[in-house]
Amino acid sequence: MLELHSHTTFSDGSLTPKQRVDRAVSKCVKALAITDHDTISGWHEARTAAQPHGLEIVPGIELSTVYNDRSMHILGFYPDPQKLRVPLYERIQGRHRRAQKMVDNLRALGYPIELPPMPGNMAPGRPHVANALLTAGHVASHQEAFQRFIGDHGPAYVPYEKFTAQEGIALLRSCGAVPVWAHPYLFRGGIVEDILPELVTYGLMGVEVYHPQHSISEEQVLEELCSRYDLLMTGGSDYHGPQPKLKPGDIDLNGLKLPLDLLDIVKQAANSLKNIG
Ligand code: AMP
Ligand code: ZN
Ligand code: FE
Ligand code: FE
Repeated sequence: MLELHSHTTFSDGSLTPKQRVDRAVSKCVKALAITDHDTISGWHEARTAAQPHGLEIVPGIELSTVYNDRSMHILGFYPDPQKLRVPLYERIQGRHRRAQKMVDNLRALGYPIELPPMPGNMAPGRPHVANALLTAGHVASHQEAFQRFIGDHGPAYVPYEKFTAQEGIALLRSCGAVPVWAHPYLFRGGIVEDILPELVTYGLMGVEVYHPQHSISEEQVLEELCSRYDLLMTGGSDYHGPQPKLKPGDIDLNGLKLPLDLLDIVKQAANSLKNIG
């Protein structure tokens, strides 16, 4: 089984890379992508933990970009880590500045919080702010933190620093990574059918068709679009760690049961980029 979208404590996941690997092994996953937001720092620990189990680690990333003023996530598979080092440093610094701005906004609103110390190679995100709000007793749940304060229209929300989807796709390709539009139906800045052709002109090579928050009919539309634009298909659970209470319909790790063949196509695409570069 294949799992091409997951997070660790190097971004906003709650499991360390080793814990994440152990859980994948227990669920009989054969290939696991580590796709933290804007950082690749989790790969090394994941590889070391996976090696004795024969679990294949797919090196990946989920880049935070902006399209139509809204957040758009672009997955990249098999980037050259050396080429990504400097550009990612800037993205992660931007995430640290953004997290601090949200803290400042909350303080001005009368809700002071303290973020835990976060090392420089770790990418802070809104879930960390939600956690701090919970710890400070200002909210009773993560959901409430997003609803009252840091959701896309919330009073303390701060968008990503400007980095367009076009720039993100170009960056990934220049690093030999296969760019894939993550969870298109979670995008709030336009209609999937209208946006996709434009992303293709930027160099997009694939679409994350299978995602827990996509309906079956949405996945069918995406399958059709992938065949129309000759794009590869990926999927994953976007797993951020165990949830205290899984709601009916929530998909736990590897609930999607994706076939390994999808990975071969991603590998071929990555090789084609490296041959050009
Ligand atoms: P960021 O990249 O810092 O904007 O954080 C995005 C992450 O926040 C997503 O990957 C989700 O894990 C989480 N998230 C976004 N919106 C919500 C929401 N309304 N409720 C709970 N979690 C959310
Ligand atoms: Zn996340
Ligand atoms: Fe995402
Ligand atoms: Fe994600």
